[in-house]
Amino acid sequence: MAAAGQFPPDLGAEVAFAGRSNAGKSSAINAIMHRRGLARTSKLPGRTRLLNFFELGPSQRIVDLPGYGYASVSEAERRSWLPLLESLRQRESLRGLFVIVDARRGIMDGDEALLQWALPHQVHVLLSKADKLSRSEANSALAAATRALAGRATAQLFSAVTRAGVDSAQEKLAGWLRGEKPLE
Ligand code: GDP
Repeated sequence: MAAAGQFPPDLGAEVAFAGRSNAGKSSAINAIMHRRGLARTSKLPGRTRLLNFFELGPSQRIVDLPGYGYASVSEAERRSWLPLLESLRQRESLRGLFVIVDARRGIMDGDEALLQWALPHQVHVLLSKADKLSRSEANSALAAATRALAGRATAQLFSAVTRAGVDSAQEKLAGWLRGEKPLE
């Protein structure tokens, strides 16, 4: 099992991405980064179920968290992630967390657990695959998510296909990466 000791040095700024399996996390990362195949910086094995760090620039990284919510992930495997996730949460570099939520499904139990875990870090929810909804359905999804988040996180509509919302997500990412860590 990969250990937190293999994380890159805790310097600079990093932003994490998380979401249920199939929510559109990989597509969102690619759309936001505008490139594919970012270089991995950690020595962690390249299994997508583990944490992957990607170098963006000098001392700037994104961290791809394992997808959650699928029964195929064993309880043992889930438990083995916890120390890694805890080590991530405690890193000085961590500036914020994007949570990718399928706009058609809205915020579900696993997303709730992640929100609880992430506090007091800043969280921004991308309501993904918004292109699959009509404008009014999308607006309802955003309103419902905003209600469910109740001030704990911000949210926006997002589509990797039409690139709707990519600009706002990029601004959020850039702000977190250059900003000071807020007082807790
Ligand atoms: P991940 O498991 O969360 O990383 O999800 P992926 O990025 O692999 O996407 C899961 C599926 O949803 C794939 O079939 C994608 O093509 C599709 N998908 C992802 N983002 C979008 C989107 O914005 N719009 C639509 N229509 N499909 C998407």
